[in-house]
Amino acid sequence: MLDVLRRIVQEVSGAEDLAGALALVVQRVRHAMNADACSVYLLDHDARHYVLMATDGLNSEAVGRLRVPLGAGLISLVGERKEPVNLDNAHTHDRFQIFPEINEEQFHAFLGVPIVHRRSPLGILVVRHRSARKFESDEEAFLVTMASQLAGAIAHAEIAGDVAKLVEHHARIDYSLDGLPGAPGVVVGTALVVYPSADLDAVPDRTVDDPVAEVAVFTAAVERTRAEIEYFSQQLGSIARDDRALFDAYLMMLNSDSLIGKTIARIQQGSWASGALRDTIRDHVRAFNEMDDPYLRERASDVRDLGRRILMAIQSGERRAPPYPEKTILVGDEITATMLAEVPRDKLCGIVSVRGSSLSHVAILAHAMGVPAVVGVDDLPVSRVDRCEMVVDGYRGRIYISPRAGVRQEYQRLAREEAQLAAGLEELRDLPSRTPDDRDVHLYANTGLIADLTPSLSSGAEGIGLYRTEFPFMVRERFPSEDEQQETYRQILEAFAPRPVVLRTLDIGGDKSLSYFPIKEDNPFLGWRGIRVTLDHPEIFLVQLRAMMRASRGLDNLHILLPMISQIGEVDEALKLIDRAFAELCAEGEPLARPKIGMMIEVPSTLFLMDRLAPKVDFFSVGTNDLTQYLLAVDRNNSRVASLYDALHPAVIAALAHVVAQAERHGKPVSVCGEMAGDPYAAPILIGLGVRSLSMSSASLLRVKWVVRSISYERCRAIARHALQLSDARSVRDFLEEELETAGLGELVKARR
Ligand code: PEP
Ligand code: MG
Repeated sequence: MLDVLRRIVQEVSGAEDLAGALALVVQRVRHAMNADACSVYLLDHDARHYVLMATDGLNSEAVGRLRVPLGAGLISLVGERKEPVNLDNAHTHDRFQIFPEINEEQFHAFLGVPIVHRRSPLGILVVRHRSARKFESDEEAFLVTMASQLAGAIAHAEIAGDVAKLVEHHARIDYSLDGLPGAPGVVVGTALVVYPSADLDAVPDRTVDDPVAEVAVFTAAVERTRAEIEYFSQQLGSIARDDRALFDAYLMMLNSDSLIGKTIARIQQGSWASGALRDTIRDHVRAFNEMDDPYLRERASDVRDLGRRILMAIQSGERRAPPYPEKTILVGDEITATMLAEVPRDKLCGIVSVRGSSLSHVAILAHAMGVPAVVGVDDLPVSRVDRCEMVVDGYRGRIYISPRAGVRQEYQRLAREEAQLAAGLEELRDLPSRTPDDRDVHLYANTGLIADLTPSLSSGAEGIGLYRTEFPFMVRERFPSEDEQQETYRQILEAFAPRPVVLRTLDIGGDKSLSYFPIKEDNPFLGWRGIRVTLDHPEIFLVQLRAMMRASRGLDNLHILLPMISQIGEVDEALKLIDRAFAELCAEGEPLARPKIGMMIEVPSTLFLMDRLAPKVDFFSVGTNDLTQYLLAVDRNNSRVASLYDALHPAVIAALAHVVAQAERHGKPVSVCGEMAGDPYAAPILIGLGVRSLSMSSASLLRVKWVVRSISYERCRAIARHALQLSDARSVRDFLEEELETAGLGELVKARR
């Protein structure tokens, strides 16, 4: 059964549209379960009906026509119960209702299971028998498994289909998709899909104005591919003819009307060559995959390979840079740093990436560039949205595709107001970050990029509160040398001297990996990460420590921060290595001041070890990004549980209160450097808890300064006390929203509402 299930799911996810996918489902399930009928009903939320979308066994003419109102019949009963309904004779059930359109009278046995995706009901999957007999429990289990597997595929196909309709009919509806906030800000622009080359699945839909020229592009690519294969075949001339059969098969396919002719026909209908090729190859692959003969099934991979070769030939002749829309929103399955770099800076207005997390490389780059970004939009049908108008809401982590005029105007207004707000806040740049009742709150910048230094400096930051050293490691193809690292660190230390700069030691693992030092684990956030890696590799750690200390010569503003500490022994070992590096450098004649050493509080165990950790370090820095994920057991990069991830959860606030009190008792300074520090909502709470320094992306700095200068420390203390009594993050946010508005900071909450 598992094999059957896998085959069905695979076929469905390859279907061209939702209708095709559902037609396949009902056929395959009916066959696999030996049932007399199988049908799928999908919920039409707006119209409050279940609509028969596909059937094998009932009257197929009723497809799309039969609409079962919510509350009616057994179909609705399954939806209401949210569990399987298994009846040997449906006719005797008091909810049984005859819908004459589908000849239901002939069927007695009924098994219906709900199709649910992320808590939302999508529809019902039903199998029927003519005879009266109960479906066995293993049949019920199969159908439940099938429905749960299909839910994701249906949700995805539904979205892709809806988006296709939007594009085809130039419709404008408020079609939105949720991902994760990547970088704050809102923008309305035009989607430009970027995709890795030589990947057929990544090719987006695009239309051409001149199909004749496009056919020429395609046939030239086919000719180049043919020449290449003939060349390969000749190269292998000495081997047995049988072994060269594959090349002959390729050459035959290159002559076949079904491959070449069908692609040309698609181009003549207006598709660009790459898209037409993608669809033809997909049809062929599906046909081969469906064959029962395992030898023929294997041929699917040959067709794919040939398709990829032709695609490469098309792409090698393509103009490199696509024409960039004036307000380009870069959209892709996985946006990389190089893809970003290719877009002219004055045209790049937004970023949307299917993969990635709020803290992935692309999000951090977007932050640094001040470009709104949404990441982790799992369900986005990338290939369908090229050149669509799009709204990016980097606060909520939401995008709108082809927005209706009202939504577009609302976001355009928000974007204008944001720009005005940013301009207005400029006047705070040189004013002290002090509450109305005279309490100083020091504001620092987070960075990881040299490119970010200028904005950090011009934001009025009092120093760098967190420099993530992973980035200079990520942009290379090998570990940077001591000299290379020293040069990078020197630039930062120098730019800010005499102000303090906190350089964090390498924090790889989790979602930050180096191509040349891959770490593959089932559970990377609980695995080999941060200090655990560097203590296991003293050769890497010592080089970094030496580079940091050498870079600080004569400046004396270096602070070293240790990430991911969970054990007291880790601090001891790290201190030993720091002492060793320092002693070595002194022995080499470097005139150095010993840097201040701090540790991050981001693993909950450290909350309960602070008494013993405090005497060992000079300062603490709270990494609320990780602290939140570990305290709440919510993966910070998983969009499925994103609604549970919020640093304003009262448990996180209570943990922070504890950290501040403990640090104070030991006379050790504590700062907060996670994203929470840059959230204007969180600022009154952090200040009220007694936090004296906050480190954030430079784009957030003036907003937070505005909060500091607007709400008294006394009021902040009351706010923090009250927040600790609330039951969840939502209530804390609602409460803070009111507080910010009362304080005259309504502008800060508008875009986030
Ligand atoms: C944090 O965990 O809050 C933090 C600042 O570190 P990073 O986001 O780099 O893990
Ligand atoms: Mg962290």
